[in-house]
Amino acid sequence: MSQSQRPANPSAAEAAAAAGAVAAAAAGAPLGAGRAAVGTRLDPWLSSYAERTRSMTASEIRALFAVANRPEVVSLAGGMPYLPALPLDVIAGIAQRLIAERGAVALQYGSGQGEEVLREQIVQVMREQQIHASPEDVVVTTGSQQALDLVARVFLDPGDVVVAEAPSYVGALNVFRSYQADVVHVPLDADGLQPQALEEALVALEAAGRRAKFLYTVPNHHNPAGVTLSAARRPQVLEVARRHGLLVLEDDPYALLGFDGDPLPAMRSLDADGVIHLGSFSKTLAPGFRLGWAVAPHAVREKLVMAAEASVLCPTSFGQLAVAEYLSTYDWKGQVKTFRELYRERRDATLQALATHLPMTTWTQPKGGFYVWVTLPEGLDATAMLPRAVTARVAYVPGTAFYADDQGRQHLRLSYCFPTAERIQEGVRRLAGVVQAELET
Ligand code: PMP
Repeated sequence: MSQSQRPANPSAAEAAAAAGAVAAAAAGAPLGAGRAAVGTRLDPWLSSYAERTRSMTASEIRALFAVANRPEVVSLAGGMPYLPALPLDVIAGIAQRLIAERGAVALQYGSGQGEEVLREQIVQVMREQQIHASPEDVVVTTGSQQALDLVARVFLDPGDVVVAEAPSYVGALNVFRSYQADVVHVPLDADGLQPQALEEALVALEAAGRRAKFLYTVPNHHNPAGVTLSAARRPQVLEVARRHGLLVLEDDPYALLGFDGDPLPAMRSLDADGVIHLGSFSKTLAPGFRLGWAVAPHAVREKLVMAAEASVLCPTSFGQLAVAEYLSTYDWKGQVKTFRELYRERRDATLQALATHLPMTTWTQPKGGFYVWVTLPEGLDATAMLPRAVTARVAYVPGTAFYADDQGRQHLRLSYCFPTAERIQEGVRRLAGVVQAELET
């Protein structure tokens, strides 16, 4: 599929989430009295909204992303998997047979915890990361995004603290924000979250009489930072968490998309009692199925199922049965390998283009996944620069989207998963022109 055949609004979900977050961070203050008065005329229900909607704000950046989705713009913004690489004929056959032969089951309500046939397959998938679980331990969710929402719903009261990497996945920050939690950021480096910094943050919180409810971490091929928590640090992070009575929320949709060898053992494989592990079929198969999962300590899992039933009754029966059939009859590991090879080529193209065109910046070295995190020269502001980049027909997500506070102006996230290597090179070349112009003004 050529770029000009792309769907009209390809990166909408991620970009919109980022847009909301950027707006929230940029706006700083919640709605003031003056704006509320204006808003009353525009929205007669303004005074009825729950407190938690205060963080749900639209932004000019959302409008910019609409422009960024035009075919002439190279979008390095959204994290869309490259679905033209899927065996669509195989999936079509599965869907067709499912309806023809088992339609009355596939289109019926199902269990809140998810279909057992799929949970059995998920257990097999998790073996790739050395997680040993049984199907009863698994809760199927509507993407891992819903799992994030369920965990937040189960654990967070307004004012509670979540510890999260700096930077963090924008969609998770939006969830924590919507439950009115305070996010305390802990820095990461090329080897992922820094255990010592985590220790210090927890000590500081305790000294202030506060206790964090959980640590949110993306250990593999981090979104947006593109780094992986090293094997050596995994037990160290868990040890710090254990000592402080901190639950770990391991959000892990990119684990199988590593470019160099087998995935590292999941945090969950090292501590089954202290870790909630989230997985997803969005990156290894297709996000349109909206299927992910959570594996949690027993009592937590019960709460998650009850929260899920209140939220969606049950995940899609049709989708679950289709994915279970795909996993049990198709070479899904071969398909993941196809994705890995494709993304490796695009990662290489991105790093090469950065070295050629943007030597005045620095960037991370992703060993898998979709993202590279770029640091601009001192004094440049990726949020302020975005409109000029879009005018130059290239789009990215500014770093501020990935922080709960006002950090991140000097950073931007590039996604290399969707555009071809040639488009990536062209996009980075255009970006370099914009950065050069910023440096000269
Ligand atoms: N977590 C992370 C780190 C992600 O990058 C994403 C998707 N961009 C999600 C969760 C949500 O994925 P899904 O709901 O499609 O499983």
